[in-house]
Amino acid sequence: MAQIDLQQKLAVLADAAKYDASCASSGTSKRDSRGGKGIGSTEGMGICHAYAPDGRCISLLKILLTNSCIFDCAYCINRKSSNVRRARFTPDEVVRLTLDFYRRNYIEGLFLSSGIIRSSDYTMEQIVEVARALRDDHHFKGYIHLKTIPDADPELVRLAGVYADRVSINVELPTVAGLTRLAPEKDGGRIESAMKDVRAAIDEGKDAKKRFKSAPAFAPAGQSTQMIVGADAATDSDIVGRASNLYDRFRLRRVYYSAFSPIPDSSAVLPLRRPPLMREHRLYQSDWLMRFYGFTAAEVAQAADPAGMLPLDIDPKLAWALRFREHFPVDVNRAPREALLRVPGLGVKAVDKLVASRRWRRLRLDDVARLTASIAKVRPFIEAEGWRPTLLTDRSDLAARLTPKREQLELFG
Ligand code: SF4
Repeated sequence: MAQIDLQQKLAVLADAAKYDASCASSGTSKRDSRGGKGIGSTEGMGICHAYAPDGRCISLLKILLTNSCIFDCAYCINRKSSNVRRARFTPDEVVRLTLDFYRRNYIEGLFLSSGIIRSSDYTMEQIVEVARALRDDHHFKGYIHLKTIPDADPELVRLAGVYADRVSINVELPTVAGLTRLAPEKDGGRIESAMKDVRAAIDEGKDAKKRFKSAPAFAPAGQSTQMIVGADAATDSDIVGRASNLYDRFRLRRVYYSAFSPIPDSSAVLPLRRPPLMREHRLYQSDWLMRFYGFTAAEVAQAADPAGMLPLDIDPKLAWALRFREHFPVDVNRAPREALLRVPGLGVKAVDKLVASRRWRRLRLDDVARLTASIAKVRPFIEAEGWRPTLLTDRSDLAARLTPKREQLELFG
Protein backbone atom coordinates (compact mmCIF):
# COMPACT_ATOMS: atom_id res chain seq x y z
CA MET A 1 0.00 0.00 0.00
CA ALA A 2 1.55 3.35 -1.05
CA GLN A 3 2.37 5.74 1.80
CA ILE A 4 -0.20 8.50 2.12
CA ASP A 5 -0.54 11.22 4.75
CA LEU A 6 -3.15 11.37 7.48
CA GLN A 7 -5.38 13.81 5.65
CA GLN A 8 -5.46 11.63 2.55
CA LYS A 9 -6.22 8.59 4.68
CA LEU A 10 -9.05 10.50 6.29
CA ALA A 11 -10.48 11.39 2.88
CA VAL A 12 -10.37 7.76 1.71
CA LEU A 13 -11.59 6.14 4.93
CA ALA A 14 -14.36 8.63 5.68
CA ASP A 15 -15.62 8.24 2.10
CA ALA A 16 -15.50 4.44 2.39
CA ALA A 17 -17.55 4.58 5.60
CA LYS A 18 -20.44 6.46 4.01
CA TYR A 19 -21.98 3.22 2.73
CA ASP A 20 -22.74 2.12 6.27
CA ALA A 21 -26.16 3.45 7.21
CA SER A 22 -26.07 2.48 10.86
CA CYS A 23 -25.83 6.02 12.07
CA ALA A 24 -26.69 8.04 9.00
CA SER A 25 -29.78 9.23 7.28
CA SER A 26 -30.12 8.97 3.56
CA GLY A 27 -32.92 10.11 1.34
CA THR A 28 -32.25 13.82 1.27
CA SER A 29 -31.66 15.70 -1.95
CA LYS A 30 -28.13 16.46 -3.03
CA ARG A 31 -27.05 20.03 -2.38
CA ASP A 32 -23.52 21.30 -2.34
CA SER A 33 -22.00 24.74 -1.95
CA ARG A 34 -18.45 23.70 -2.67
CA GLY A 35 -18.76 25.21 -6.16
CA GLY A 36 -18.75 28.66 -4.59
CA LYS A 37 -22.25 29.97 -3.95
CA GLY A 38 -24.03 29.36 -0.66
CA ILE A 39 -22.98 27.50 2.42
CA GLY A 40 -23.17 23.84 3.47
CA SER A 41 -23.51 20.51 1.73
CA THR A 42 -25.63 17.39 2.12
CA GLU A 43 -23.01 15.28 0.39
CA GLY A 44 -19.98 15.52 2.62
CA MET A 45 -18.85 12.55 4.62
CA GLY A 46 -16.76 11.93 7.69
CA ILE A 47 -19.21 13.26 10.26
CA CYS A 48 -22.60 11.68 10.80
CA HIS A 49 -25.33 12.12 13.34
CA ALA A 50 -26.76 9.62 15.76
CA TYR A 51 -29.06 9.68 18.75
CA ALA A 52 -27.59 9.12 22.19
CA PRO A 53 -29.55 7.01 24.72
CA ASP A 54 -30.86 10.21 26.32
CA GLY A 55 -32.31 11.38 22.97
CA ARG A 56 -29.65 13.99 22.14
CA CYS A 57 -28.56 14.20 18.51
CA ILE A 58 -24.79 13.89 18.48
CA SER A 59 -22.20 14.22 15.74
CA LEU A 60 -19.75 11.37 15.23
CA LEU A 61 -16.51 11.00 13.34
CA LYS A 62 -17.48 8.15 11.02
CA ILE A 63 -14.55 6.30 9.53
CA LEU A 64 -13.15 2.90 8.70
CA LEU A 65 -9.94 1.67 10.23
CA THR A 66 -9.14 0.36 6.76
CA ASN A 67 -10.98 -0.17 3.49
CA SER A 68 -8.79 -3.16 2.63
CA CYS A 69 -10.58 -6.45 3.10
CA ILE A 70 -9.82 -10.11 2.63
CA PHE A 71 -13.51 -10.83 1.90
CA ASP A 72 -15.23 -10.31 -1.42
CA CYS A 73 -18.85 -9.42 -0.66
CA ALA A 74 -20.33 -8.54 -4.05
CA TYR A 75 -22.27 -5.44 -2.85
CA CYS A 76 -19.32 -3.82 -1.07
CA ILE A 77 -17.04 -1.21 -2.56
CA ASN A 78 -14.25 -2.33 -0.22
CA ARG A 79 -14.29 -5.97 -1.31
CA LYS A 80 -11.03 -7.67 -2.17
CA SER A 81 -11.60 -7.52 -5.93
CA SER A 82 -12.68 -3.85 -6.00
CA ASN A 83 -10.41 -1.44 -7.78
CA VAL A 84 -10.47 1.35 -5.20
CA ARG A 85 -7.72 3.31 -3.55
CA ARG A 86 -6.85 1.66 -0.24
CA ALA A 87 -5.77 3.21 3.03
CA ARG A 88 -5.31 2.13 6.61
CA PHE A 89 -5.15 3.98 9.90
CA THR A 90 -3.17 2.73 12.86
CA PRO A 91 -5.22 2.60 16.08
CA ASP A 92 -3.09 5.47 17.39
CA GLU A 93 -3.98 7.64 14.38
CA VAL A 94 -7.69 7.08 14.96
CA VAL A 95 -7.26 7.96 18.63
CA ARG A 96 -5.42 11.19 17.78
CA LEU A 97 -7.96 12.20 15.14
CA THR A 98 -10.87 11.56 17.48
CA LEU A 99 -9.30 13.56 20.29
CA ASP A 100 -8.31 16.44 17.94
CA PHE A 101 -11.79 16.67 16.43
CA TYR A 102 -13.37 16.38 19.86
CA ARG A 103 -11.24 19.19 21.30
CA ARG A 104 -12.13 21.40 18.35
CA ASN A 105 -15.78 20.69 19.04
CA TYR A 106 -16.38 19.12 15.63
CA ILE A 107 -17.64 15.84 17.04
CA GLU A 108 -19.04 14.29 20.18
CA GLY A 109 -18.02 10.73 19.44
CA LEU A 110 -16.64 8.09 17.12
CA PHE A 111 -18.25 5.56 14.78
CA LEU A 112 -15.61 3.01 13.79
CA SER A 113 -15.93 0.14 11.37
CA SER A 114 -13.38 -1.73 9.27
CA GLY A 115 -12.70 -4.07 6.42
CA ILE A 116 -11.17 -7.33 7.57
CA ILE A 117 -7.39 -7.25 7.69
CA ARG A 118 -5.49 -10.52 7.99
CA SER A 119 -8.17 -12.17 10.15
CA SER A 120 -11.35 -11.34 12.03
CA ASP A 121 -9.53 -11.55 15.38
CA TYR A 122 -6.68 -9.29 14.29
CA THR A 123 -9.14 -6.68 12.98
CA MET A 124 -11.27 -6.83 16.09
CA GLU A 125 -8.17 -6.43 18.28
CA GLN A 126 -7.28 -3.23 16.42
CA ILE A 127 -10.81 -1.85 16.73
CA VAL A 128 -10.92 -2.65 20.43
CA GLU A 129 -7.49 -1.08 20.91
CA VAL A 130 -8.82 2.26 19.60
CA ALA A 131 -11.68 2.21 22.08
CA ARG A 132 -9.47 1.00 24.92
CA ALA A 133 -6.89 3.73 24.37
CA LEU A 134 -9.58 6.40 24.17
CA ARG A 135 -11.23 5.25 27.39
CA ASP A 136 -8.29 4.02 29.50
CA ASP A 137 -5.37 6.19 28.34
CA HIS A 138 -7.23 9.41 27.52
CA HIS A 139 -10.33 9.07 29.72
CA PHE A 140 -12.49 9.89 26.70
CA LYS A 141 -16.10 10.21 27.85
CA GLY A 142 -17.65 10.78 24.41
CA TYR A 143 -19.88 8.36 22.53
CA ILE A 144 -18.31 5.35 20.83
CA HIS A 145 -20.08 3.07 18.34
CA LEU A 146 -18.05 0.06 17.21
CA LYS A 147 -18.86 -2.30 14.39
CA THR A 148 -17.96 -5.78 15.50
CA ILE A 149 -16.81 -8.69 13.37
CA PRO A 150 -19.07 -11.72 13.87
CA ASP A 151 -16.29 -14.26 13.35
CA ALA A 152 -14.03 -12.69 15.94
CA ASP A 153 -13.28 -14.30 19.28
CA PRO A 154 -16.34 -13.67 21.54
CA GLU A 155 -14.00 -12.29 24.21
CA LEU A 156 -12.92 -9.52 21.82
CA VAL A 157 -16.55 -8.73 21.01
CA ARG A 158 -17.24 -8.61 24.75
CA LEU A 159 -14.35 -6.17 25.23
CA ALA A 160 -15.79 -3.98 22.46
CA GLY A 161 -19.03 -3.76 24.45
CA VAL A 162 -17.14 -2.85 27.61
CA TYR A 163 -15.58 0.22 25.94
CA ALA A 164 -18.33 1.20 23.48
CA ASP A 165 -21.73 2.78 24.02
CA ARG A 166 -23.17 0.86 21.13
CA VAL A 167 -22.01 -2.16 19.16
CA SER A 168 -23.46 -3.34 15.90
CA ILE A 169 -23.17 -6.42 13.76
CA ASN A 170 -24.52 -6.18 10.23
CA VAL A 171 -26.78 -8.98 9.03
CA GLU A 172 -26.21 -7.36 5.61
CA LEU A 173 -28.90 -9.18 3.62
CA PRO A 174 -32.41 -10.07 4.67
CA THR A 175 -32.37 -13.68 3.51
CA VAL A 176 -29.97 -16.58 3.86
CA ALA A 177 -30.20 -17.13 0.10
CA GLY A 178 -29.10 -13.52 -0.52
CA LEU A 179 -26.21 -13.80 1.92
CA THR A 180 -25.03 -17.09 0.40
CA ARG A 181 -25.14 -15.65 -3.09
CA LEU A 182 -23.63 -12.22 -2.48
CA ALA A 183 -21.41 -12.73 0.57
CA PRO A 184 -20.45 -16.42 0.51
CA GLU A 185 -17.63 -15.93 3.05
CA LYS A 186 -20.11 -14.70 5.64
CA ASP A 187 -22.08 -17.09 7.78
CA GLY A 188 -25.61 -16.14 8.84
CA GLY A 189 -25.43 -18.57 11.77
CA ARG A 190 -22.27 -16.95 13.13
CA ILE A 191 -23.72 -13.45 12.72
CA GLU A 192 -26.76 -14.44 14.78
CA SER A 193 -24.67 -16.25 17.34
CA ALA A 194 -22.55 -13.08 17.82
CA MET A 195 -25.75 -11.04 18.25
CA LYS A 196 -26.97 -13.53 20.83
CA ASP A 197 -23.70 -13.25 22.78
CA VAL A 198 -23.91 -9.46 22.74
CA ARG A 199 -27.54 -9.62 23.94
CA ALA A 200 -26.54 -11.92 26.81
CA ALA A 201 -23.65 -9.61 27.76
CA ILE A 202 -25.95 -6.55 27.73
CA ASP A 203 -28.41 -8.36 30.01
CA GLU A 204 -25.63 -9.51 32.36
CA GLY A 205 -24.25 -5.96 32.45
CA LYS A 206 -27.67 -4.60 33.40
CA ASP A 207 -28.11 -7.23 36.10
CA ALA A 208 -24.68 -6.53 37.57
CA LYS A 209 -25.40 -2.80 37.54
CA LYS A 210 -28.55 -3.36 39.59
CA ARG A 211 -26.57 -5.24 42.21
CA PHE A 212 -23.34 -3.22 42.21
CA LYS A 213 -23.39 0.43 41.31
CA SER A 214 -19.73 0.30 40.31
CA ALA A 215 -20.19 -2.60 37.82
CA PRO A 216 -19.12 -1.52 34.31
CA ALA A 217 -21.96 -0.98 31.84
CA PHE A 218 -21.93 -3.12 28.71
CA ALA A 219 -22.91 -1.29 25.50
CA PRO A 220 -25.48 0.88 27.32
CA ALA A 221 -26.88 2.14 24.01
CA GLY A 222 -27.58 -1.46 22.95
CA GLN A 223 -26.88 -3.19 19.66
CA SER A 224 -28.10 -2.45 16.17
CA THR A 225 -27.79 -3.91 12.70
CA GLN A 226 -28.10 -2.95 9.08
CA MET A 227 -29.76 -4.59 6.08
CA ILE A 228 -29.06 -3.72 2.48
CA VAL A 229 -32.24 -3.25 0.47
CA GLY A 230 -32.51 -3.99 -3.22
CA ALA A 231 -29.26 -5.91 -3.79
CA ASP A 232 -31.03 -9.28 -3.75
CA ALA A 233 -34.52 -10.55 -4.49
CA ALA A 234 -35.88 -10.10 -0.92
CA THR A 235 -39.31 -8.46 -0.87
CA ASP A 236 -40.43 -5.81 1.59
CA SER A 237 -42.44 -8.49 3.41
CA ASP A 238 -39.27 -10.61 3.73
CA ILE A 239 -37.33 -7.62 5.07
CA VAL A 240 -39.98 -6.59 7.58
CA GLY A 241 -40.34 -10.21 8.75
CA ARG A 242 -36.59 -10.53 9.22
CA ALA A 243 -36.38 -7.24 11.13
CA SER A 244 -39.21 -8.28 13.42
CA ASN A 245 -37.51 -11.60 14.08
CA LEU A 246 -34.26 -9.82 15.00
CA TYR A 247 -36.05 -7.38 17.30
CA ASP A 248 -37.81 -10.26 19.06
CA ARG A 249 -34.81 -12.53 19.46
CA PHE A 250 -32.04 -10.06 20.21
CA ARG A 251 -34.00 -7.02 21.39
CA LEU A 252 -32.02 -4.81 19.00
CA ARG A 253 -32.19 -1.09 19.56
CA ARG A 254 -32.47 -0.40 15.84
CA VAL A 255 -32.49 -2.06 12.46
CA TYR A 256 -31.21 0.25 9.73
CA TYR A 257 -32.20 -0.15 6.10
CA SER A 258 -29.79 0.98 3.45
CA ALA A 259 -30.91 1.20 -0.17
CA PHE A 260 -28.30 -0.59 -2.21
CA SER A 261 -26.35 1.83 -4.35
CA PRO A 262 -24.53 0.55 -7.39
CA ILE A 263 -20.84 0.86 -6.76
CA PRO A 264 -18.12 1.62 -9.27
CA ASP A 265 -16.66 -1.50 -10.84
CA SER A 266 -19.50 -3.57 -9.44
CA SER A 267 -19.97 -7.31 -9.65
CA ALA A 268 -22.16 -8.66 -12.48
CA VAL A 269 -24.47 -10.42 -10.00
CA LEU A 270 -25.79 -7.07 -8.74
CA PRO A 271 -28.68 -5.05 -10.14
CA LEU A 272 -27.60 -2.15 -12.33
CA ARG A 273 -29.90 0.36 -10.69
CA ARG A 274 -30.47 1.33 -7.09
CA PRO A 275 -33.97 0.76 -5.70
CA PRO A 276 -36.07 3.90 -5.21
CA LEU A 277 -35.05 5.73 -2.03
CA MET A 278 -38.76 5.82 -1.21
CA ARG A 279 -38.57 2.05 -0.69
CA GLU A 280 -36.02 2.57 2.08
CA HIS A 281 -38.30 5.25 3.56
CA ARG A 282 -41.34 2.94 3.53
CA LEU A 283 -39.29 0.27 5.32
CA TYR A 284 -38.35 2.77 8.03
CA GLN A 285 -42.03 3.67 8.38
CA SER A 286 -42.89 -0.04 8.69
CA ASP A 287 -40.21 -0.41 11.31
CA TRP A 288 -41.84 2.39 13.33
CA LEU A 289 -45.23 0.72 12.96
CA MET A 290 -43.78 -2.42 14.56
CA ARG A 291 -41.84 -0.65 17.30
CA PHE A 292 -44.28 2.05 18.35
CA TYR A 293 -47.71 1.39 16.81
CA GLY A 294 -48.39 -2.20 17.80
CA PHE A 295 -48.28 -3.67 14.29
CA THR A 296 -46.92 -7.17 13.81
CA ALA A 297 -44.73 -8.01 10.82
CA ALA A 298 -47.62 -10.02 9.38
CA GLU A 299 -49.91 -6.97 9.61
CA VAL A 300 -47.34 -4.76 7.87
CA ALA A 301 -47.09 -7.42 5.18
CA GLN A 302 -50.87 -7.16 4.71
CA ALA A 303 -50.26 -3.63 3.44
CA ALA A 304 -47.99 -4.99 0.69
CA ASP A 305 -49.08 -6.06 -2.80
CA PRO A 306 -49.30 -9.76 -3.79
CA ALA A 307 -45.59 -9.67 -4.71
CA GLY A 308 -44.76 -8.60 -1.14
CA MET A 309 -43.84 -5.00 -1.97
CA LEU A 310 -45.13 -2.01 -0.03
CA PRO A 311 -46.73 0.79 -2.03
CA LEU A 312 -44.40 3.67 -2.75
CA ASP A 313 -47.09 6.33 -3.24
CA ILE A 314 -48.71 6.01 0.20
CA ASP A 315 -47.35 5.09 3.62
CA PRO A 316 -47.85 1.55 4.95
CA LYS A 317 -50.21 2.62 7.74
CA LEU A 318 -52.56 4.28 5.26
CA ALA A 319 -52.25 1.28 2.93
CA TRP A 320 -53.26 -1.04 5.79
CA ALA A 321 -56.21 1.16 6.81
CA LEU A 322 -57.49 1.33 3.23
CA ARG A 323 -57.34 -2.45 2.99
CA PHE A 324 -59.05 -3.05 6.35
CA ARG A 325 -61.74 -0.40 6.40
CA GLU A 326 -63.96 -2.56 8.60
CA HIS A 327 -61.77 -1.44 11.57
CA PHE A 328 -62.80 2.19 10.98
CA PRO A 329 -64.08 4.74 11.84
CA VAL A 330 -62.51 4.81 15.30
CA ASP A 331 -64.24 6.93 17.95
CA VAL A 332 -61.62 9.33 19.33
CA ASN A 333 -63.70 9.78 22.51
CA ARG A 334 -63.96 6.09 23.39
CA ALA A 335 -61.59 3.88 21.42
CA PRO A 336 -58.63 2.26 23.17
CA ARG A 337 -55.19 3.74 22.54
CA GLU A 338 -54.22 0.74 20.35
CA ALA A 339 -57.12 1.41 17.97
CA LEU A 340 -56.27 5.13 17.77
CA LEU A 341 -52.68 4.25 16.88
CA ARG A 342 -54.01 2.55 13.73
CA VAL A 343 -55.55 5.77 12.41
CA PRO A 344 -53.56 7.13 9.44
CA GLY A 345 -52.18 10.57 10.20
CA LEU A 346 -52.23 10.16 13.99
CA GLY A 347 -48.79 9.80 15.57
CA VAL A 348 -47.96 8.45 19.01
CA LYS A 349 -47.75 11.91 20.60
CA ALA A 350 -51.08 12.98 19.08
CA VAL A 351 -52.76 9.80 20.33
CA ASP A 352 -51.39 10.28 23.84
CA LYS A 353 -52.62 13.87 23.88
CA LEU A 354 -56.07 12.78 22.67
CA VAL A 355 -56.29 10.12 25.36
CA ALA A 356 -55.23 12.65 28.03
CA SER A 357 -57.62 15.42 26.90
CA ARG A 358 -60.71 13.27 26.44
CA ARG A 359 -60.78 12.68 30.21
CA TRP A 360 -62.01 16.25 30.61
CA ARG A 361 -64.24 16.84 27.63
CA ARG A 362 -65.60 15.32 24.45
CA LEU A 363 -63.28 15.93 21.52
CA ARG A 364 -64.40 17.50 18.25
CA LEU A 365 -62.80 17.27 14.82
CA ASP A 366 -61.14 20.66 15.41
CA ASP A 367 -59.40 19.29 18.52
CA VAL A 368 -57.95 16.44 16.45
CA ALA A 369 -57.00 18.84 13.64
CA ARG A 370 -54.77 20.78 16.03
CA LEU A 371 -52.70 17.62 16.63
CA THR A 372 -52.10 16.44 13.09
CA ALA A 373 -50.42 17.76 9.97
CA SER A 374 -53.30 16.60 7.74
CA ILE A 375 -56.84 16.35 9.07
CA ALA A 376 -57.94 15.38 5.53
CA LYS A 377 -56.02 12.12 5.98
CA VAL A 378 -57.48 11.47 9.43
CA ARG A 379 -61.15 12.42 8.81
CA PRO A 380 -62.30 9.31 6.93
CA PHE A 381 -61.04 7.07 9.73
CA ILE A 382 -62.41 8.69 12.90
CA GLU A 383 -65.57 9.70 14.67
CA ALA A 384 -65.58 12.73 16.97
CA GLU A 385 -68.20 14.90 18.70
CA GLY A 386 -70.31 16.29 15.84
CA TRP A 387 -68.42 14.29 13.15
CA ARG A 388 -69.16 10.98 11.48
CA PRO A 389 -67.57 10.19 8.13
CA THR A 390 -70.73 8.25 7.06
CA LEU A 391 -69.97 6.96 3.54
CA LEU A 392 -66.54 8.60 3.29
CA THR A 393 -64.71 5.64 4.88
CA ASP A 394 -66.05 3.24 2.25
CA ARG A 395 -65.71 5.40 -0.87
CA SER A 396 -64.13 3.51 -3.72
CA ASP A 397 -62.02 6.55 -4.64
CA LEU A 398 -60.72 7.11 -1.08
CA ALA A 399 -57.21 5.84 -1.92
CA ALA A 400 -56.97 8.26 -4.84
CA ARG A 401 -58.22 11.15 -2.66
CA LEU A 402 -55.57 10.45 -0.01
CA THR A 403 -52.63 9.73 -2.30
CA PRO A 404 -50.29 12.71 -2.24
CA LYS A 405 -50.18 14.55 -5.54
CA ARG A 406 -47.00 13.93 -7.52
CA GLU A 407 -44.84 17.01 -7.71
CA GLN A 408 -43.39 18.05 -11.02
CA LEU A 409 -39.62 18.17 -10.50
CA GLU A 410 -37.74 21.15 -11.80
CA LEU A 411 -35.77 20.22 -14.89
CA PHE A 412 -32.77 22.31 -13.86
CA GLY A 413 -33.36 22.31 -10.10
S1 SF4 B 1 -16.46 -8.10 5.03
FE1 SF4 B 1 -17.31 -6.04 5.17
S2 SF4 B 1 -15.75 -4.71 4.32
FE2 SF4 B 1 -15.22 -6.78 3.70
S3 SF4 B 1 -16.12 -7.02 1.66
FE3 SF4 B 1 -17.61 -7.80 3.14
S4 SF4 B 1 -18.96 -6.04 3.63
FE4 SF4 B 1 -17.07 -5.25 2.63
